[in-house]
Amino acid sequence: MIFGTVLILSGCKPVDWAEKQWNAFFNVETAQEEKWKEILYDQPTPNPDESKEEPSKEKPSKEEPTQKDLPWLEETVTVSADGKAVVQNLDDLLIVANKERNLPKDYEPTDLVTPDVPFPFKEDLPKKKMRKEAALSLEVLFKVAEDKGLELLAQSGYRSYDTQDSIFAFNAEQKGEEIANKTSSKPGQSEHQTGLSMDVTSPEVNYELTEAFGDTKEGKWLAENAHKYGFIIRYLKGKEDITGYNYEPWHLRYVGVEHANKIHQLGITLEEYLQKP
Ligand SMILES: [Zn+2]
Repeated sequence: MIFGTVLILSGCKPVDWAEKQWNAFFNVETAQEEKWKEILYDQPTPNPDESKEEPSKEKPSKEEPTQKDLPWLEETVTVSADGKAVVQNLDDLLIVANKERNLPKDYEPTDLVTPDVPFPFKEDLPKKKMRKEAALSLEVLFKVAEDKGLELLAQSGYRSYDTQDSIFAFNAEQKGEEIANKTSSKPGQSEHQTGLSMDVTSPEVNYELTEAFGDTKEGKWLAENAHKYGFIIRYLKGKEDITGYNYEPWHLRYVGVEHANKIHQLGITLEEYLQKP
């Protein structure tokens, strides 16, 4: 089951599956819970030594968004006439599109640009694009990786609703709808439509998008370091029931450095991060 909740913002009547919301996130062993709260709420466990410090030595408190400011899943959708949850926070870096949350057919980010990174093809295709902030961060990530002797290539970024429609139809015809649904998205449900995702690959896996990429030096480095540049590995191993997708070590999702750091530290998915406590 993919967890998630939806409230009809106007009618205030939860849709059927909203009741099945996933609560395990805050229903864990105490020690782990404390650690998570510390990260999420920016409330470090008090250290007796620190409390003795002079007030002047205290770090200046930085205005940072706290957990209570996050765009919670249930508060960022409305339900359409045909019962579909439609995502509302379209330009939010923490936007979530998944099998329960649909992007409008006509949604296209307005700030799409092509990052200056290597691609394994020459054509100037829309799939080279990402939203500007994500593209600039991807350039930095690729530069650092290159300096470390890693060979990353960007394979697929922005994808329009119509392109996703064609891809899903093709996969369903080739593999059957059930398998197609696990490996590709229905139109409106692909994160690639947000312009915040990029599939990356390397020569070691013949520029393919394959699970084996996770075992390459490039894949391992990304898993350990992508968060420093604002990216998360969106579809984690062992989290298939939550994301609705198989493990995809190649699919990078931009959320910004602050959130990527927290999500990485917690080892959770974007859905879990945005589940209202
Ligand atoms: Zn992808």
